[in-house]
Amino acid sequence: MDRVLSGMRPTGKLHIGHYFGALKNWVELQDKYDCFYFIADWHALTTNYENPEDIIALRKEMILDWLSVGIDIKKSTLFVQSKNIYHAELFLLLSMITPVSWLERCPTYKEIRNEIKDKDLSNLGFLSYPVLQTADIIIYNAKYVPVGVDQLPHLEISREIVRRFHYLYNGDLFVEPEGLLTNVPKLLGTDGRKMSKSYGNAIMLSEEPKSVEKKIKTMMTDTNRKLRSDPGNPEVCPVFDYHKVFSDEEERSFVTDGCKNATIGCIDCKKVLIKNILSFLEPIQAKRAEYEKIIDDLDEFLSKTQQKANDVAAGTVKKVRKVLRI
Ligand code: SF4
Repeated sequence: MDRVLSGMRPTGKLHIGHYFGALKNWVELQDKYDCFYFIADWHALTTNYENPEDIIALRKEMILDWLSVGIDIKKSTLFVQSKNIYHAELFLLLSMITPVSWLERCPTYKEIRNEIKDKDLSNLGFLSYPVLQTADIIIYNAKYVPVGVDQLPHLEISREIVRRFHYLYNGDLFVEPEGLLTNVPKLLGTDGRKMSKSYGNAIMLSEEPKSVEKKIKTMMTDTNRKLRSDPGNPEVCPVFDYHKVFSDEEERSFVTDGCKNATIGCIDCKKVLIKNILSFLEPIQAKRAEYEKIIDDLDEFLSKTQQKANDVAAGTVKKVRKVLRI
């Protein structure tokens, strides 16, 4: 089976945006590919270097969320990046051959620097994170990396670094990774802004039913529909974007007709959505509770798959050292 690699920064408990944007796909890929999924804790440090203790605490929460949605440790190789020192060695060697200009022109680099104003991101680690990302991927000779369209430029840098390595050292050691394009449905936060835990506008996978209900009840709707008697337009309403993901066809046409003809109110519409989100979350939360009982020490739980990842990475670095004669 071809290998797939993907990672996630341990930023805390995950929300439905993470599920529909990545995890749902990860679960499906497990049956078709040899999947390696990792906690990208070094990547988290590139922007969150002032709070390393947070990252350690959040690893377990994230793994619990992964397992609760169906990531299966018997099918996939789950591991922690910082417990595999070979990533750092390959990163160092690749950084010798990567022109700084490639990193400076990376669109995500500029975007994030513009977006995050409250942190000093003039650090080397942040500039060079596409090199670390390249090491993460090619150390496993992963053929595919699941990505959204906006992440394609990153992968292009990885492909360029691989080509440069092969050109400089006359080798053919690495697989040039390809993007596995993922369709990400539009899901804004309940206040209409980008969904983010820090804005308090996200529905978490482990969110209490009462809290879900409250968030949906106060969720932004089509702003032109001020009165129940005003017809609305589901296509501009964030609630309807959720219906597209959580409700079946019959319910969606009930909502569409009712909204356009003002025969239902937003409360009726949201009731259907609340019912569907809660029944989506229920089995996830039940599974999470089971894993919470099983997993005491995360390192111990991941020990076998971590060892497997470390062995594969060690094998690659051994070959790289041979090529570089060091
Ligand atoms: S009825 Fe539903 S889709 Fe229409 S505006 Fe209200 S919440 Fe949005």
